[in-house]
Amino acid sequence: GSLPGHDDVEAALDAAYERFRDLDDGVVVEDVPALADADPDLFGVALVDTAGAEHVRGDARHRFTIQSISKAFVYALVCQEIGHDAVLERVGVDNTGVPFDSVLAIEHDEGHPMNPMVNAGAIAATGLAPGESRAERWDFLVRGLSRFAGRDLAVDDAVYRSESQANQRNEGLALLLEGHGRLSGDALGVVDAYTRQCSLLVDARDLAVMGVTLANGGVNPLTREQVVDAPIARDTVSVLTSTGMYERSGEWLFEVGVPAKSGISGGIVMVSPGKGAVGTFSPRLDDAGNSVRGRRACSHLARSLGLDLFASR
Ligand code: GLN
Repeated sequence: GSLPGHDDVEAALDAAYERFRDLDDGVVVEDVPALADADPDLFGVALVDTAGAEHVRGDARHRFTIQSISKAFVYALVCQEIGHDAVLERVGVDNTGVPFDSVLAIEHDEGHPMNPMVNAGAIAATGLAPGESRAERWDFLVRGLSRFAGRDLAVDDAVYRSESQANQRNEGLALLLEGHGRLSGDALGVVDAYTRQCSLLVDARDLAVMGVTLANGGVNPLTREQVVDAPIARDTVSVLTSTGMYERSGEWLFEVGVPAKSGISGGIVMVSPGKGAVGTFSPRLDDAGNSVRGRRACSHLARSLGLDLFASR
């Protein structure tokens, strides 16, 4: 199937935005000082379909740092570079059932990180970026993420510095991976690249463009560039399905039924293969770190646009 017609999509966006814009459950992340300042009332919703048609509501052009959502696209980029089997050897595809920064993601299977959407596995994936130097590897990451977005993404220096100064947990995860022989490259250099990738500025509309590139066989429908091959886009969406919403991935699949990835600054990207993608931004989070309004808006859109993978009609 395909998405409903233009007017129905517009009406669904209106409803998803209007119904949840006053919902004030949840709290802005506190751990990162530069993120704690975010205006809790911001709310943006965007949808881009595989033909490149765009729909935006509210603060869909307000920029924020991509955070964990970068994990999905870096995973796709390194899979494209070294291949499905080689990546699977370095990082698994099963949910951890524990928070995203947990060390259990490493200790489960002799240091083999359980999945690329929690910090341990994401750091391992970032370590697979090719290049001779830190600068070349960063260039690979930022250029690849920018191709997904269809524009040149830039780092928010204040957030990057703030996260770098309190990065002991991620550094610990990286050193532990290295100790298990599970990390390519120098551990602290890899964490630095990971922290930079998390600090890239995007808006909800960028997330929808990045997501629709995965929904569209790896081709960005706005730039028409093939960013990754279709099987790699498919693999990435498959991993999001089981792991994209941290330890709430099962609940998300049950309630929403569409693959998605969240980040602690309040973004969500939701990917509907062959149809389109939704990007949302609202900084108030639930206790797993997922945006409360974003989740409600995604759930509403999944239902009203017929995106639920498991619904037969
Ligand atoms: N930069 C954050 C971290 O590594 C990203 C976490 C997230 O968005 N869940 O802890």
